[in-house]
Amino acid sequence: MPLLKRITRLFGDEGDAADGTAVDREAADRESVGPSHVCQSCGKEYFENPTMNIRTCGNCGGVKVERV
Ligand SMILES: [Zn+2]
Repeated sequence: MPLLKRITRLFGDEGDAADGTAVDREAADRESVGPSHVCQSCGKEYFENPTMNIRTCGNCGGVKVERV
């Protein structure tokens, strides 16, 4: 999914948690500076609280989601 499109969609609908990740206003604010986590297996980018640990990727199920 194109990153820009995803950001626009998230800003337009903060209640969208279709991928299983919670999106709150605090996380949305961070989208302007880039993702907080990236899956090392499939490259999926997450925009979450940087202190949060993402154990498994909601996209590919991989366990190598690392903070960036
Ligand atoms: Zn992944």
